[in-house]
Amino acid sequence: MFNDEQPAPAPAPPPSSSSNLLFDGKQFERAPRPLYSSDLLPKPASYSSSHGKTSAQTQAPPPPSTHAPVPRHHQKPSKESKEPKPGQLKRVTVPRECLPRFLAIAKINTSLNRETCGLLLGKDRGHKYVVTTLLIPKQHATSDTCAMEDEELVLQFTEERSLITLGWIHTHPSQSCFMSSVDLHTHSAFQRMLPESFAIVCAPKYNPTFGIFRLTDPPGLQIILGCNAQEAFHPHPDKPIYTDADREHVYLKDAHLEIVDLR
Ligand SMILES: [Zn+2]
Ligand SMILES: [Zn+2]
Repeated sequence: MFNDEQPAPAPAPPPSSSSNLLFDGKQFERAPRPLYSSDLLPKPASYSSSHGKTSAQTQAPPPPSTHAPVPRHHQKPSKESKEPKPGQLKRVTVPRECLPRFLAIAKINTSLNRETCGLLLGKDRGHKYVVTTLLIPKQHATSDTCAMEDEELVLQFTEERSLITLGWIHTHPSQSCFMSSVDLHTHSAFQRMLPESFAIVCAPKYNPTFGIFRLTDPPGLQIILGCNAQEAFHPHPDKPIYTDADREHVYLKDAHLEIVDLR
């Protein structure tokens, strides 16, 4: 049921709605500040840890398709090209209750048309990754944005517990289930560090209500990492930039889920 959606590798919506967290990776200095700082990424070897403020961003439903060429300078093949192909990804198990529990946690914000975000943390079991913990960081949100606060507490938590950030989850309180350009840039930072990283988008008012996504590799990851667009929401080339995470990659499983709410 989580692979229902066929997210149009759509270009991002025009500036006007919002989304959330993003990263300010070195490769894309963007106006809005990433919800997640590089500190929280799995082994951020090359991140800049900027601490800007998130500005309101918008998230509109996947636009029909406007594609503006993206600046290509800076687009250079780098380490990510060594990442395993989709078929070589290690499996990641996600406790099935993660979705309903997160939606329950987000319910009040959702009713107030505010986004909610969380981190999916877990362990490397050798042949697979296992999500064990849903961490809700301190955050502030609007209908279009969600920004984490006190990132140090999150970093401290993950380090003390030796947890890896395997994915992230956030709501679209009034938007459909898709990856906005902001989401794509946010996620590229995760996936660049850990090819198995995935993003769960929950859209309680729509069907499907959630999707589990990842950037295609290639060409999605490379396109996003090479994109230097300054606008928070901007179009990307008309290519299959992201996709549903394959069930052989991420799958839901009846397993224990620890929930830690730092708010
Ligand atoms: Zn989003
Ligand atoms: Zn972009």
